[in-house]
Amino acid sequence: MRIISSTAAMQKLALQWKRAGVKIGFVPTMGYLHAGHLSLVRAARKRVGKSGKVVVSIYVNPTQFAPTEDLSKYPRDLKRDLKLCREAGVDVVFTPGDAEMYPGKADGNYSTYVVEENLGRVMEGASRPTHFRGVTTVVAKLFNIVLPDVSVFGQKDFQQAAIIRRMTRDLNFPVKIIVAPTLRERDGLAMSSRNKYLTGDLRRQATVLWCAIQVAKFAVQKSKSVTAADLKADLKKLIEIEPDAKLDYVEFFNPETLQRVAQVKRGTQMALAMFVGKTRLIDNARL
Ligand code: AMP
Repeated sequence: MRIISSTAAMQKLALQWKRAGVKIGFVPTMGYLHAGHLSLVRAARKRVGKSGKVVVSIYVNPTQFAPTEDLSKYPRDLKRDLKLCREAGVDVVFTPGDAEMYPGKADGNYSTYVVEENLGRVMEGASRPTHFRGVTTVVAKLFNIVLPDVSVFGQKDFQQAAIIRRMTRDLNFPVKIIVAPTLRERDGLAMSSRNKYLTGDLRRQATVLWCAIQVAKFAVQKSKSVTAADLKADLKKLIEIEPDAKLDYVEFFNPETLQRVAQVKRGTQMALAMFVGKTRLIDNARL
């Protein structure tokens, strides 16, 4: 397995592969890898086959964090990540630094961003106004550096995956976007690098996110159609029974357009975000 931190070296290798007709599968991550990330690596390998190459990027992208967020505290363990990638059969780990990814930014000379203007306005985009601009910018840059044929994203970040699909279509990136299912802990909590912050009783309280999804599924199965406003109010109450839990949002929407629905039915998409102590967790499900 090769470890590359220079954007020019990564792009050069990708161009060599391209010329030789080698398929490239790509999994962008912020590191502190868990089984969910590794399932994306397996999905990428499945797509490109043994003769293809799988690239994982590990980069905690500063432009997708607001100044008040956890950029400096974001968990990192590159040594462990590299071991996991090696064991998973990754060909290249791309680990650029900030100066490589955003040349000139430290002196105010970086000035190009990619913005998706519709799907990114609601939910995560409403709660974290600069977040998706950072995500689309870094993913567009990574696509230009790694030149993937296929790139795999997690359903865990449902809105992010929808925005990446839209950006890829709108900007004509020749990349097939795959969205892979969410891997969960035994008690339903979606795997996330941020779960490391959940110490002591906070870890138990975090399972209320999964409970809320189950309650919404049950409500839809039982009544066929439920008023979104009523279900939102019930889920807020349920979540906030936990002493350190605070609901940020829960939304019910059309999974294609992300347009809110007034009536929740089978096939409606649900997404929610909550704080447990200081940790912000997100999850989603198709009802
Ligand atoms: P991150 O390192 O959190 O930026 O995530 C990198 C990629 O892994 C994104 O496409 C995420 O959606 C995906 N991912 C994160 N958690 C999970 C999970 N529990 N199951 C599957 N994919 C995940």
